[in-house]
Amino acid sequence: MSPPTASTPQPSAEPPPPSCHALKLLKDQTALVTGASSGIGRAIAIALGQAGANVVINFFGQPDKALEVAEEVRRCGTRAITVPADVSDPQQVRVMFERTVDEFGGLDILVNNAGVQLDAAFEDLTLHQWQRVMDVNLTGPFLCAQEAVRLFTKQGVKPALSCAAGKIICISSVHEVIPWAGHVNYAASKGGLMLLMKSLAQEVAPRRIRVNSIAPGAIRTPINTAAWSTREACNDLLKLIPQKRIGEAEEIGRAAVWLASDQSDYVHGITLFVDGGMTLYPGFETGG
Ligand code: NAD
Repeated sequence: MSPPTASTPQPSAEPPPPSCHALKLLKDQTALVTGASSGIGRAIAIALGQAGANVVINFFGQPDKALEVAEEVRRCGTRAITVPADVSDPQQVRVMFERTVDEFGGLDILVNNAGVQLDAAFEDLTLHQWQRVMDVNLTGPFLCAQEAVRLFTKQGVKPALSCAAGKIICISSVHEVIPWAGHVNYAASKGGLMLLMKSLAQEVAPRRIRVNSIAPGAIRTPINTAAWSTREACNDLLKLIPQKRIGEAEEIGRAAVWLASDQSDYVHGITLFVDGGMTLYPGFETGG
């Protein structure tokens, strides 16, 4: 594959719209969000921009959508670039980090968001479906976190920006703990991601690098359209959610801003479930 090219950053021409957060918790920090051209990654990129961060928008095959996200981030008064990369390819990941450092001089926040679902009944699951999900959902976060840890370690703490040398947030899933029939590869990848996150958090804590996960429940995005786009599917889904509503990507964006900020400095190696109560065994709602 030829090396990825990237768009050039452009300063924002317009003042931030009123919707941008007044509290710039991430002012002047730089964040890289993988798979940021759609869904949860898009919402996280915009929320980080609203909180004052410059944002590297990684995308895979959706350049126009990535450019739109960059435009929205710039409207918040911060800088944004778009960088194509397949997170499962070590060479492309390395180039993406080099591009980030060239453009912004360093990195403060990595959000490992890119993920795929390739579903099949277990006996029909192909090696390709198994491998691709592992490559994107587990090897991708490994490769990106490794580049980020090397960079954070080299940079050290920059007290004017944050009391941490760097923050890594993995976008996991409620399926890091809830088994999921027909989605064995996906659940295994997210279960693996949980222990990648926790083991890494333990290892790099002395270097003031914070590592945590967010586990979304059912969020309205392209990955799960089939689960909410018909009335019947939606009703079935709502039975699994005590709050009886589907979550919105912006709710994950707000959680990511908090986890990336010094407000959560003592939060380390945890999974923050943002799921409307999906992990509360909803089958027992009526007493079981
Ligand atoms: P989505 O399909 O909109 O987002 C996935 C993104 O990953 C896309 O932008 C896609 O282009 C990108 N991507 C796929 N392969 C890639 C690769 N090899 N390299 C780089 N990027 C790649 O769906 P989403 O719901 O926004 O998913 C985002 C994350 O949230 C995923 O990790 C997913 O597992 C997780 N998640 C979503 C939900 C939900 O209900 N939507 C629930 C739990 C967890």
